[in-house]
Amino acid sequence: MGKFIIILGSSLLIAVISAVGALPALFWGMSLSNYLAVFCILTALQLVVGTLFNYFVDQKTFREMEKVDSANALAEAIQYLPTTCAYCGTANLTKIMLDRDNSFNCEACGEKNAVIIESSTARITMPIMPKAEAAEIFNSLDGDTDG
Ligand SMILES: [Zn+2]
Repeated sequence: MGKFIIILGSSLLIAVISAVGALPALFWGMSLSNYLAVFCILTALQLVVGTLFNYFVDQKTFREMEKVDSANALAEAIQYLPTTCAYCGTANLTKIMLDRDNSFNCEACGEKNAVIIESSTARITMPIMPKAEAAEIFNSLDGDTDG
């Protein structure tokens, strides 16, 4: 309903602007066909200008959404890791991004540290007994846990 009213209002506005804008053509030679021709030209012009305007507004909105998306992606790429200063051994919390060289200035001594990220691997182990059975055995050992 709201959209219908907006379309109706825009159409009325275009018609009124065309009707008023074409008035000089009516007085020029007092010709109704002149008036109607100018009315049609003005209506077409407004439709073209309106379409172009909407197109550029859409493009601008799209570009701004893309900017927000890339800012969000950047924010998601930042991780915080506990690090230890290589100079004084103080614990720091450091912003890390995997796709670039990372460094930080120590909060205690102010020295610049490079952050080296290492990875390690392990085999995935399978439990030898089902979880429920393991829990039962674990619970039956209650009281012997201080040994
Ligand atoms: Zn330090």
